[in-house]
Amino acid sequence: MYRDKPMQSPPIEIDTRYPALVTGATGYIAGWLVKQLLAAGVTVHATVRDPDNIEKVGHLIDLGDSSPGTLRLFQADLLQEGSYDDAMSDCQVVFHTASPFTLTHSDAQRDLIDPALEGTRNVLASVNRCPTVTRVVVTSSVAAIYHDNHDCDKAPGGVLTEAQWNTGSTLDNLPYALSKTLAEKAAWALADAQDRWSLATINPALVVGPGLAPGQTSGSFEFLTLLTDGSFRDGAPHLDLGAVDVRDVADAHCRAGYLKTAKGRYINYATTLTLYDIAEALHPLFPSLPLPEYRAHEGPRWRADNRRSIDDLGVNYRDPVPAIVDMVQQMIDNGDIKVPASK
Ligand code: NAP
Repeated sequence: MYRDKPMQSPPIEIDTRYPALVTGATGYIAGWLVKQLLAAGVTVHATVRDPDNIEKVGHLIDLGDSSPGTLRLFQADLLQEGSYDDAMSDCQVVFHTASPFTLTHSDAQRDLIDPALEGTRNVLASVNRCPTVTRVVVTSSVAAIYHDNHDCDKAPGGVLTEAQWNTGSTLDNLPYALSKTLAEKAAWALADAQDRWSLATINPALVVGPGLAPGQTSGSFEFLTLLTDGSFRDGAPHLDLGAVDVRDVADAHCRAGYLKTAKGRYINYATTLTLYDIAEALHPLFPSLPLPEYRAHEGPRWRADNRRSIDDLGVNYRDPVPAIVDMVQQMIDNGDIKVPASK
């Protein structure tokens, strides 16, 4: 069912006459998106918080130097009004990926909600001022669709679709999911208030696979650390989740940016895995890692419909398990996961 070679989704026409904006270009997902756009010959206006931080932008500069496309770095911050105006100039497609994704925070309103919500409003206010933009792709999340796995039971047929919205998350209970829900709703309200540009949202489940730069901050890496550092040694909770290779997330963004017919929300994941499934796949390759060793208990299954992303966008999903293996290997090589000498 899965393809073993990358980039086998049917090719699409990418208009390279106009630049495309990628917000949060230092990010994990954004890195792969910038790579795909540059490989297609696009001029990428990449916004970052600190263009002088070579540790964070060096890989983007290298990609620009080695690709048919052109990279231009711009400074921008989600919380600074008008910050994206310069970078957006002449752009046809805007990919808004920037938003904090972390499992740890000290002040949910300040650290998660404000940058996600005010940042989305800020970027889309720039879109409304920039006459060349015709398509906006916002990186949302399945977290904007459901709060916990019990929501699957409430969905028609027990399967989550793009018709559902997360109604359960609060500032105290899964504030990251609340941040994604509020930001995506704000994006739709602004899109619906005009007719010059159209909006597509990509709603990925857990994104996995290696990053393009060392020092990744995405919650995806925090999650893999938690799974491999012994936290679940005494049993993994039945956390049934969707997983998707980061390259298929970038692919979905590209397609949503350039396919004329793309519109609306796209659930973006390849397959459902439990923490134990992931541990089982990792164990033979990394036998001394303190991985979860048994299923603690059964819980509600996570089921979501990814057909719009396959039928309408043409995403041809890879098996995400090899990507998890590569990601763990990369984290070990970088010293982010410590392998005990012996079990
Ligand atoms: P990431 O690597 O942490 O990327 C987040 C990006 O947001 C970074 O480039 C970061 O910039 C930028 N950012 C944060 N606060 C900012 C601010 N105030 N101003 C400007 N930029 C700011 O995480 P990721 O996993 O790639 O996430 C990218 C998007 O995908 C997010 O919208 C996230 O919600 C969504 N998503 C991720 C997953 C997943 O499993 N990874 C799943 C579903 C959806 P700095 O580098 O300067 O900090």
